[in-house]
Amino acid sequence: MSVTPRVLLSIDYEPVFALFRWYDGLKDPARRREIDNGFTRQAIDPILEQLGDSRASIYLVGEIVEWYPEVPQKIVSAGHELGLHCHIHRPLGNVRELAEDLRASAAWCTVWCARLSRTHDRDQ
Ligand SMILES: [Zn+2]
Repeated sequence: MSVTPRVLLSIDYEPVFALFRWYDGLKDPARRREIDNGFTRQAIDPILEQLGDSRASIYLVGEIVEWYPEVPQKIVSAGHELGLHCHIHRPLGNVRELAEDLRASAAWCTVWCARLSRTHDRDQ
């Protein structure tokens, strides 16, 4: 019996400023969205197009869903696995911060990740 992996590529999809750690402490969601300046809304289409028929696991930063609710739908509609990277991209210092971060993305992740899980269950 051989095992064939279903996914060979995973992508962390996060605001462009996440690469620069000096925004980790920026708490104002409106300012964070302003700095992103539409990048995460615009970058998903060429990425999905480049993936073509290949399937990937894409781990999404939750605040992107608040800014651009169409992003998770595009990912799932293109047949990719969707996961949570975090709600706001920054170091999480303790269990309380982790719990708050998970709660902040629970609603969208339940909708989009659960939908994919049911699809996977049906396919097996
Ligand atoms: Zn990251």
